[in-house]
Amino acid sequence: MSGLHTSGDTKPVWLERDDLLSSSTPPKYSQLKANASTDVLVVGGGIAGLHIAYELLTTGMKKVILVEDGKIGSGETGRTTGHLSTDNEWNEFPSMHGKEGTANIAAAQHGAIERIAEIVNKHKIDCDFARVPGYMFHGLPKGSEGYEEGTLEEIYQSALETKKLDIAWVDDAQIKGFESGKAIKYNAQATFHPTKYIRALARIITEELGGTIHEQTRMTTYTEEADKVTAELGDGSKITAEQMVMATNVPEQKLIMIDRLEAFRTYAVALKIPNSALSTNGESALWWDVADPYHYVRITPHKQEGYSLLVVGGEDEKVGQHDDHQARFDRLVKWAKERWSGSEAVEYEWSGQVWDSADGIAYIGLNPGEKRVYIHTGDNGDGLTYAAVGGMLIRDLILGKENDLAHTFSPSRQHSTSHMTQALKSIPHVIKENLMDQAYYLKWASTATKTMTDIEDLVPGQGDVVREGIHPVAVYKDDGGEVHKMTAISTCTASSLGTLLKSRSTVPSTDRGSLARESCSSVRRRAVWRRSRRTGAAGAAGGPYGLRGG
Ligand SMILES: Cc1cc2nc3c(=O)[nH]c(=O)nc-3n(C[C@H](O)[C@H](O)[C@H](O)COP(=O)(O)OP(=O)(O)OC[C@H]3O[C@@H](n4cnc5c(N)ncnc54)[C@H](O)[C@@H]3O)c2cc1C
Repeated sequence: MSGLHTSGDTKPVWLERDDLLSSSTPPKYSQLKANASTDVLVVGGGIAGLHIAYELLTTGMKKVILVEDGKIGSGETGRTTGHLSTDNEWNEFPSMHGKEGTANIAAAQHGAIERIAEIVNKHKIDCDFARVPGYMFHGLPKGSEGYEEGTLEEIYQSALETKKLDIAWVDDAQIKGFESGKAIKYNAQATFHPTKYIRALARIITEELGGTIHEQTRMTTYTEEADKVTAELGDGSKITAEQMVMATNVPEQKLIMIDRLEAFRTYAVALKIPNSALSTNGESALWWDVADPYHYVRITPHKQEGYSLLVVGGEDEKVGQHDDHQARFDRLVKWAKERWSGSEAVEYEWSGQVWDSADGIAYIGLNPGEKRVYIHTGDNGDGLTYAAVGGMLIRDLILGKENDLAHTFSPSRQHSTSHMTQALKSIPHVIKENLMDQAYYLKWASTATKTMTDIEDLVPGQGDVVREGIHPVAVYKDDGGEVHKMTAISTCTASSLGTLLKSRSTVPSTDRGSLARESCSSVRRRAVWRRSRRTGAAGAAGGPYGLRGG
């Protein structure tokens, strides 16, 4: 997920009016090449890490160090489309999170947009922040085959029941030249220019709040002890910290968390469009359909007066399962032109990864089994708002303050009937398929240092991969506390892993997971709640979760 400029080769639209990610823009913050100590170490210089550092420092905390492997914004934040939105399929949440949990999620996302607005206003950040409405619409032309309002109505009713969202049921999504039919209008949404925003956050952290940022500084491994965490860096130097936060998009070292995540590649294009061709009421807006595959749309200024860029995303695919990237871009363009008929040339095409959790919301809080290490992960395509949620929540957890959202977003929440419980009980299968299927395991394989002596960290019902000598071993502690241990790597997977490790430095942006499939044909097919709903398959069901472990 990391890289000096961005995590991929394709060029995101944000290069249009900001050069943060340009290969000719050097890193601004020095590489750390000596031992250091701090109160809190934040790992990851994307929007989540920056929000966490910002929130901690605004409480008066003075010693916060943030380390970033590449350059600020060089992860997925540099590839986002920048919707600050509450556009969930709210009808899916009550069965997984309960009524109260669903209301908490709505309050958190709404509060996140307000927090970003507050930060922008307070520091007068020049990042094109704009309040816009968002329209969730069917996606197919009104009256066409397959057009049904049922899903939208369900989403609307569930969103209404949270009592936390400002929404309305409207006749039309205001798309110029496209009869959308009924839509849900979400008020109080926003857009911004993400790299301008995070560039400003980094400046505020270092110049106004006394924090420290180091770019090109990779944490390779860490150990937690009773009174401190020690992070080892790529050059061998160490940072000791009272607490550490992994805002690395995907956390490191813990199989239990990694296996709760599933990587998708999402695609985006930006088309030049005259302002007059955008919407029937002349307003800027966000748009999302509920089709399969789904699409998300926003507008951002074009450098030419009178024009905008119509930014259209979607065509999500499970990472590494397809190599038809150009066809996906082409389908996005076709879809856009059929709805925004005034759109003109395609000026940007890019893609990036999003990580879905097992129950559709982020994992924010203590890393299971640890006491000083926090994680922020599982963006579900809403990582910008979750970054603001995570900033405030992790700040409160570190300061020992109560936060109503702690339970809802806890990484230790148990997905009662999700695939996870079952998956952990068949660990060899999970390990084998995940190692082949998720690029993340490259990182895991290069950073995991847990040994068999660390098994005590596991709480009942959890699994992890540890090292026994040089071999990865899967361990699972059952509900009765008995530990089961299995060799994690099959012959097939071991050779795949070898291929992956050799290739990791030479495959900068494609789905590295696909390399594994060149040597092994078995592919994991695990339903994810959100995508499975879209494809009509049974999603993860079950009641609200309970908490397990720390
Ligand atoms: C095409 C696309 C469109 C999207 N659209 C939206 C949207 O409209 N709205 C929305 O809310 N979300 C959207 N998302 C998702 C959103 O962009 C991400 O969830 C969010 O940017 C993630 O932020 P982050 O800080 O968690 O991760 P990142 O931005 O990936 O930051 C993590 C950082 O950690 C660094 N790192 C990793 N490991 C280490 C290490 N060991 N040591 C040091 N540093 C390390 C990486 O280099 C990276 O810079 C989109 C994503 C994509 C790809």
